[in-house]
Amino acid sequence: MFEHIQAAPSDPILGLNDAFRNDPNPKKINLGVGVYKDEQGTTPILKSVKQAEERLLNQETSKSYLSIEGSQAYREAVQTLLFGEDTQIISKQLAQTAQTPGGTGALRVAAEFIRKHLPNATIWVSNPTWANHQAVFQSVNLEVGSYAYYDVDTKSLDFESMLAGLSQVPAGDVVLFHGCCHNPTGIDPTPEQWYQLAKLCSKQGFLPLFDFAYQGFGAGLEEDAQGLRTFLNHVPEMLIANSFSKNFGLYNERVGALTIVSDNADQALAAFTQIKRAVRTNYSNPPSHGSAIVAEILNSKELRSLWEMELKSMRSRIHEMRSLFVNTLRAKGVNQDFSFISKQNGMFSFSGLNPEQVSRLRKEFSIYIVGSGRINVAGMTHENMEPLCEAIAAVLK
Ligand code: PMP
Repeated sequence: MFEHIQAAPSDPILGLNDAFRNDPNPKKINLGVGVYKDEQGTTPILKSVKQAEERLLNQETSKSYLSIEGSQAYREAVQTLLFGEDTQIISKQLAQTAQTPGGTGALRVAAEFIRKHLPNATIWVSNPTWANHQAVFQSVNLEVGSYAYYDVDTKSLDFESMLAGLSQVPAGDVVLFHGCCHNPTGIDPTPEQWYQLAKLCSKQGFLPLFDFAYQGFGAGLEEDAQGLRTFLNHVPEMLIANSFSKNFGLYNERVGALTIVSDNADQALAAFTQIKRAVRTNYSNPPSHGSAIVAEILNSKELRSLWEMELKSMRSRIHEMRSLFVNTLRAKGVNQDFSFISKQNGMFSFSGLNPEQVSRLRKEFSIYIVGSGRINVAGMTHENMEPLCEAIAAVLK
């Protein structure tokens, strides 16, 4: 039965990680996969997470199933992070949230929901976007289109083309926005640009789907939610897929959520029953441990302030590495302007390195970068910065 099945190509980003692991060079540097690393090059468990886990270990009394939509305390905590304290969205129950296995799980459930209930909708993603977006949407046979986003020459947002592209999107289609820290470019719209996009969305009548995987990695928890909140002032409906993989460092616990917002509480609830159906026929109900950690932290004053400090220190380290990278490249005699890197948000930037340079970095220097030239700034440390920039200077010559 299996004889005719061809092997699938390895995932371009996760495959890079395997190659890195097998590289015997002790000086190898991994700027590939999107995982936060500290100054020692490790991905530590946050102290707030460890403390929450200790509490949970003592309190937990059962491993019985969660409900299809997940833990109530978690769902409420998610909404407060997304929408802020004291909003009508929460008090009027205009949003419903399902706990999902990671942000990817949320996107997959959203994809199934869209395919079934908005069967004629095309989903539009930015060009470029996270490598898995297209694949997740295509796996449920959704039509995927792309809108202009990145200007290769200026290494910035091509906002005019973005607006022009999105003004062609008809009512009833879905447009995916990265809530903050755009993956892979690191370039986000400004508050004024978010406002213009929200107005356009309201005029055109397309449904926004916010992929919000890096809240707190850009400018701060509240600041990073501004795009999404600006949209909510102008549009009646929205889907939000959020992830706590990065901001809580809970990658392997698979913690995320899918939230549906409507300007009518009954409609939100009715549509939510269909989201629950998609969950039930997919993985039945979500895993508990990661969401219990998040809820424990967000609902404890002490743990929350510890977490916010830890999040801030991850964010600051990334900003520091961005500036140091730009300065060190200059010090190594690189003439090209890399200053755009210090202006971008989150872990990723498009370096502008071409596939040949990326391949030389890997072969000659054991430096691992995704083929598109996307770099994970969090893979940089004070220790590896000099050799990294020397290698880049060498391949740029
Ligand atoms: N969306 C984007 C833009 C991401 O970068 C990622 C993670 N790389 C995800 C979604 C998925 O997150 P998770 O690991 O929680 O599934």
